[in-house]
Amino acid sequence: MLCLGIESTAHTFGVAIMRDKTELSSASDTFTTKEGGMNPPVVARHHIELKEKLLGKALSDAKVNLEDIDLISFSKGPGLAPCLHVGKNFAAELAKKAKCPLIGVNHICAHLEIGRMITGTKDPVFVFVSGANTQIIAHEGGRYRVFGETLSIGLGNALDKFGRIAGLGFPAGPKIEQLAREGKLVELPYVVKGMDVDFAGIITKAELLLKKGAKVEDLCFSLQETCFAMLAEVTERAVAHCDKEEVILIGGVAANKRFCEMLDSMCRDRGCKFHPVPLKYCGDNPVMIAWQGMLEHNYNRREEDLGTVEINPRWRIDELNAEWY
Ligand code: ATP
Repeated sequence: MLCLGIESTAHTFGVAIMRDKTELSSASDTFTTKEGGMNPPVVARHHIELKEKLLGKALSDAKVNLEDIDLISFSKGPGLAPCLHVGKNFAAELAKKAKCPLIGVNHICAHLEIGRMITGTKDPVFVFVSGANTQIIAHEGGRYRVFGETLSIGLGNALDKFGRIAGLGFPAGPKIEQLAREGKLVELPYVVKGMDVDFAGIITKAELLLKKGAKVEDLCFSLQETCFAMLAEVTERAVAHCDKEEVILIGGVAANKRFCEMLDSMCRDRGCKFHPVPLKYCGDNPVMIAWQGMLEHNYNRREEDLGTVEINPRWRIDELNAEWY
């Protein structure tokens, strides 16, 4: 099967083509500004301006024509509504031209499934830590269940917020990782509430300590140690509760070597296996949308009606039936 996937939930617009499990091409562009932040209509305009060019590149890199495509898959949500609309409208237009079925998939689910496919894991605990998201997820009883999540902002955004205050530039995660190598531990609040975590107060405390003259290296080190330990604790409990034998780490924060080291060490202690997902597939990408579309299509999911196809900006991962799992 030849599937064309379209990603457009937030800052990234991308088109990928897969033949079954093989990636033939992937062409994306990410909206950026010097100031950081995203104004949804402005980001949507970026997607509109680039969509044809990215489609052309994906088709020519894959050496196929639009008419050869058997299935079109797009991100239906969650995400920014104006950006989702661009992807949905483009996907519907292309499905009409290619005379092929159209499927709208859950973006978070696509992150999990590409992680499972790339790492070859069967039934892991998923640690999904990106800019806006922080969730510990596992599949139980026919559904993905969120076992723990952030009660405020995602860890990536929390690190970026500290980076803004400390003048580290955007995104701050890589710089924080670098500075942490020279740092020592200072006490920060460790906030685990049941299976959930909260990063907002930790950042406020770090800001306060910075204003009082604490060394930025020490704060970077301590932020990493504290936040990663909180997530490792919740992950360990999810592994024990669900009796799983594998853990995979997905999302932009998966680039952090110290985080991987801590999860790996926790897994070794428990006799389970840790798998980081290669960075190329960790962040938003259209390959995962193509893969998810094929998974669902092959499981006989009903295709979208081209006349009534909609988006779902607040679609939670635990609202869908993962029957193909
Ligand atoms: P979302 O998909 O949740 O809307 P996003 O697409 O912005 O958010 P990603 O691209 O998955 O998220 O990840 C970006 C985040 O990862 C940024 O917040 C960035 O600071 C963080 N990050 C990147 N590299 C590192 C690193 N080495 N250490 C810690 N954090 C990192």
